[in-house]
Amino acid sequence: MSKTVFIETFGCQMNLADTEVVLARLGEAGWAQVEDPAGADLVLYNTCAVRDHAEAKVRGRLGELKAIKEQRKKTGGKLTIGVMGCMAQREKEALVKRFPYIDLVVGTDQFVHMPQLLDQIEERGRLVATDFGDFEDRLWSAKRGEGINAWVPIMRGCNYACTYCVVPNTRGREKSRPMAQIEDEVKALVDQGFVQITLLGQTVDSYGKTLGDGSTLAGLLRKLHEIPDLKRLRFVTSHPKDVSDDLLDAVAELPKVAKHLHVPAQAGSDRILRLMGRRYTRADYLRFVDRARSRMPTVELLSDFIVGFPKETAADFAETVSLMEEVRFAGSYVFMYSERPGTPSANLEDDVPLVDKKLRCNHLLDLQLVHQGEQFQRLHGTIQHVLVEGPSRNNDQMLHGRNMGNLNIVFPRAGHDALIGSVVPVRIERSTSLTLYGEIVPAESPVELTHVR
Ligand code: SF4
Repeated sequence: MSKTVFIETFGCQMNLADTEVVLARLGEAGWAQVEDPAGADLVLYNTCAVRDHAEAKVRGRLGELKAIKEQRKKTGGKLTIGVMGCMAQREKEALVKRFPYIDLVVGTDQFVHMPQLLDQIEERGRLVATDFGDFEDRLWSAKRGEGINAWVPIMRGCNYACTYCVVPNTRGREKSRPMAQIEDEVKALVDQGFVQITLLGQTVDSYGKTLGDGSTLAGLLRKLHEIPDLKRLRFVTSHPKDVSDDLLDAVAELPKVAKHLHVPAQAGSDRILRLMGRRYTRADYLRFVDRARSRMPTVELLSDFIVGFPKETAADFAETVSLMEEVRFAGSYVFMYSERPGTPSANLEDDVPLVDKKLRCNHLLDLQLVHQGEQFQRLHGTIQHVLVEGPSRNNDQMLHGRNMGNLNIVFPRAGHDALIGSVVPVRIERSTSLTLYGEIVPAESPVELTHVR
């Protein structure tokens, strides 16, 4: 009988992609995935270290496992506990000191060797494997779930050093995958029915720099665009400094590439951007917005913001608000600054009171909803190219999909399941603050597809 693994993933899309790789390696070694930790031989947590909140959740889970492990032991059974991902990479042996019943701590490069590491703990007992190393090509392949979406990491690590960020410590230096290897993987995924591919990287727009063969993200998009049955291509996350004109030209000119750019601004004040080590100014960011919108008036821009960074004054925050007003993003992820041990900004006093952080966070979230609402209103009556993804999460009488700008659109399901995986015209009828609702335009109606801001 095969051994069973339960895995829970925290954090970003890159972690979810790493989980798919681990499941593929374990599957090859005869492990079966289960959905309940209670019956599993191995419980793995794939962790995030970006905020303390994410780490606290894992600490809670580990606390709960202690009793289960002891209970198993009493009845002659065994539970192996492993922690992988950014928290494992950051804490290393310290994690085992705090939770001595953990069997395996696996870093962000070593997880591809999971079956071998599990064999080693059988022979030698507890193991901490957190060295950075090169991935062998075959180790990148992943076990994908159901659906039309697949996420493909095209690079790992980051060569920036934003002062608040743990990623350079937890994921190491930037490494890009060879273009031919990515192309083969995407072709195989499309053959399996995954028609929407999202390319992943911490600074995805710097793809290719470490390869030294002239590869760029623009070149990769052009190459992948030629795959016949691929319907849509996306990529996340970009750094404002690396969005080249060539990349914007490729996004603008290639019909299958979503007109959607996730380019975190983080703050609107030059003083705070400098303290964050972001290596661009507010004016640089606004120039990027102009370069993008002059090529693609309908492009949807997404941003991340950190509020309450050390030394952020009310005047600094007002500049972030005015940046949001000026750009009017399609979406924003807003986070309160959280000090992370070992990062340069941890040397600065975390001097913005929590109450102010909360007020600033809510202010930006409210503003984003206003901008979103205005934008959604402008879309009423337009017809959007929607790639149908499947049943709506909140109402199984409805289907949902995404337009070219990656906006989520919900419409009646009746008789339309065969359209999952296809691009269909949907007329936008109404919206809430978060969702657009529409109706499929019947095939016999002549339509002019529109996508307006
Ligand atoms: S660009 Fe900055 S925020 Fe993004 S992963 Fe690299 S160091 Fe972290």
